[in-house]
Amino acid sequence: MSSPFDAWITNDDEVSDLLAQEWQRQTTTLQLIASENFASPAVMAATGSILTNKYAEGYPGRRYYGGNQIVDEVEDLARRRLTALFGADHANVQPHSGANANVAVYQALLDAGDTILAMRLDQGGHLTHGSPASMTSKAWHFVSYGVTPRSDDPDAPGEIIDFDNVRDLALAHRPKLIVAGATAYARRIDPAPFREIADEVGALLMFDSAHVAGLIAGGSHPNPVPYADVVAFTTHKTLRGPRGGAILCREEHAKRIDSAVFPGQQGGPLEHSIAAKAVAFREAAQPSFSTYTEQIVKNSVAFGAALAAEGFRMVSGGTENHMVLLDLRTFDEDLTGKEAQEVLDRAGITTNRNTIPDDPRSAFITSGLRVGTAAETTAGLREEEFARVATLMARALRGRADETQIVAVRAEVGELCRAFNPYGAFTN
Ligand SMILES: *Cc1c(COP(=O)(O)O)cnc(C)c1O
Repeated sequence: MSSPFDAWITNDDEVSDLLAQEWQRQTTTLQLIASENFASPAVMAATGSILTNKYAEGYPGRRYYGGNQIVDEVEDLARRRLTALFGADHANVQPHSGANANVAVYQALLDAGDTILAMRLDQGGHLTHGSPASMTSKAWHFVSYGVTPRSDDPDAPGEIIDFDNVRDLALAHRPKLIVAGATAYARRIDPAPFREIADEVGALLMFDSAHVAGLIAGGSHPNPVPYADVVAFTTHKTLRGPRGGAILCREEHAKRIDSAVFPGQQGGPLEHSIAAKAVAFREAAQPSFSTYTEQIVKNSVAFGAALAAEGFRMVSGGTENHMVLLDLRTFDEDLTGKEAQEVLDRAGITTNRNTIPDDPRSAFITSGLRVGTAAETTAGLREEEFARVATLMARALRGRADETQIVAVRAEVGELCRAFNPYGAFTN
């Protein structure tokens, strides 16, 4: 079984074979990586389009090379659709990735060495929020806020963003920029208290909505655009577009943001990806996309409840977005995130290990597992199926020493994937 988009690759058996194998993997195993999705055939077709051939350094109407009349229209269309989708003043659709977008924002708004207040990496922040391994920590000075302590009170479970901590650190360090947004955090992030704190200390506010851009576009999460100076995000996570980044900002920052992306960060833009972004932005503006994002959240809530019933503890005591962050220790004290990920891989369930707040294990081993519902919701799974996936995960992990258990779960996963193929209509 090969994908219909690989039809042109007829003269390279090695690559064709690998694409067919990956097609098989994606459609016969469950994709629960919270940052992944299944882009539409229209998005994939634009990504593989003729625009891949064109150099277009600069911006529409101000290019360094000739022949960009049509490319200009493509990029303008993407920008118009994106500003309309989020109600923003200005859009830059050129960042090659979410990380590029973030660095461009820092470069546009700050001088080297300026202070940025962002979320702790081991409590949900992203590498570009000041990880020692990221160039961001070498160019700027990061101070990190965290989450409140865990509590056993079910009405106030803790492990939610600690706004007292954000405010205290902002007052003490007077950051030039505050970054809201996370990569492993299952609660809704309200932009309003971040804006209040930023105003109190005279800081700019950036909302990194890489993970939740789709939930915002669908109306399932609050729109940060009215609150933040800049909103940066990826287009391939819940927004379900091609791999890439984008930036929205207030008019006063537009020129500096554009120059920071090009020539500050990048050379020629990927206009094929920009065409695919335009396709995705139109898809995200349809009423059916709101139905999709509502279902994502309903599925996470049902998935989380079923996982909790199996003995896993939900970090933050629940979920309000597309992911569930699990503490594995209540399920099995000896089970690490690394082992859980490997066992589930063998059972055809793709997840990733993740640190959890106050994790006693290293970032490579971890005590947590992150699972997401965005991709399989696209494939059509609903609450009932996600509850079944929770049972399958628990069975595989409990029976991890017994290969017959793993094989049995793998078979049930295969059955589920046959019933819910994201590209089913395009497969013969
Ligand atoms: C995924 C992510 C990014 C980076 O996106 P890439 O496209 O992988 O570079 C940045 N910030 C947050 C919060 C993310 O989750």
